[in-house]
Amino acid sequence: MSHSEGTPKDVLVYAEYIDGKVHPVTYELLSKGRELADKLGGSLISVIIGYGSSKYSEDLIWSGADKVFAYEFDEDVKPDVLLHKDVLVNLINEIKPKIVLFGATPWGRTLAPRVAAALKTGLTADCLDIYIDDNGDVIQVRPAFTGNIIAHIKTITTPVMTTIRYKVFKPLSKDKSRKGQVIVRKIDKAHLMSKERLFEILGKVKEKEVNIADAEIIVAGGRGLKRKEDLKMLEELANLLGGVVGVSRPLVDSGWCSKDRQVGFSGNIVKPRIYIACGISGSPQHLAGMKDSKIIISINIDPSAPIIRYSDLAVVGDLYEIVPKLIEELKKLRR
Ligand code: FAD
Repeated sequence: MSHSEGTPKDVLVYAEYIDGKVHPVTYELLSKGRELADKLGGSLISVIIGYGSSKYSEDLIWSGADKVFAYEFDEDVKPDVLLHKDVLVNLINEIKPKIVLFGATPWGRTLAPRVAAALKTGLTADCLDIYIDDNGDVIQVRPAFTGNIIAHIKTITTPVMTTIRYKVFKPLSKDKSRKGQVIVRKIDKAHLMSKERLFEILGKVKEKEVNIADAEIIVAGGRGLKRKEDLKMLEELANLLGGVVGVSRPLVDSGWCSKDRQVGFSGNIVKPRIYIACGISGSPQHLAGMKDSKIIISINIDPSAPIIRYSDLAVVGDLYEIVPKLIEELKKLRR
């Protein structure tokens, strides 16, 4: 059912589709969106924009959507945040959803405020959760005051617009028997309002960045490391395991590592297959970012460190002895 008339009840999920790929946060948003739409008694609608986007419509329905709007551009139209904004503003005015969800990715964080400003509604960025309370109000949950409190925010304007962090929700398993409505619209770029155009995406910087949130194996270092150079040792271990290096916040604060490597409440939320914490105590803020890892291994000299309680395997000892031994053994296995 759709609710273009009367009280808005539908939930709209923006499917992030750039360079021919759907960002995995989309499926997490659909899972949350499904829950919200069911609670509101509305439909879950998804919108996907760009050349070739319509071929993902079914996939979005299998992942929870009732209805998908796919906006096909010409092949030569590059991803442009202002074009996406124009499409979204028009669509939101047409279907009048109660809630609009975006991923808090660099793209989503750039796009969502522009849409919110054009619609003269609010935006709560970087949320960790969103729910409907007993009064039927939409409540958004996010850290506030540099993460010292968790704020539960009620937005009174409609639509309620939110960006949500990647890896917070679990996607639904795809149900290929799900049926839904697909509306494909061909967009003639000349009809869009934006006067600004993107000419080129310079991808070099992006390639260098580590996407720690997607890593399957993370070797993370904390204040147990004595020098910045010692991170190289963790990098060697990570490389041998096919993983990446993460860090606790003090290492970012002291300039040893870039923020994109930080694991935790005010950094990245990660759910790798294996998380190896080397010289990390396990503060609540760090645990908030990695406690859902499948296997947690810790190396710590202090048997009473909180991380030990969360570990599937805790090695009590000096990381400067254990990590080189691990590297040596892994190298032997490779020979
Ligand atoms: P420590 O707590 O100092 O622990 C170092 C550990 O290393 C100790 O357990 C010690 O026993 C062990 N150790 C020492 N030497 C060795 C050795 N040779 N071999 C083995 N083990 C050794 N922190 C984050 O990580 N991520 C966040 O996103 C984050 N957000 C925050 C947000 C706010 C608002 C605030 C206030 C704090 C935040 N913090 C965050 C900081 C957090 O509170 C902790 O200070 C931080 O996680 C501690 O980092 P650590 O475990 O590396 O250091």
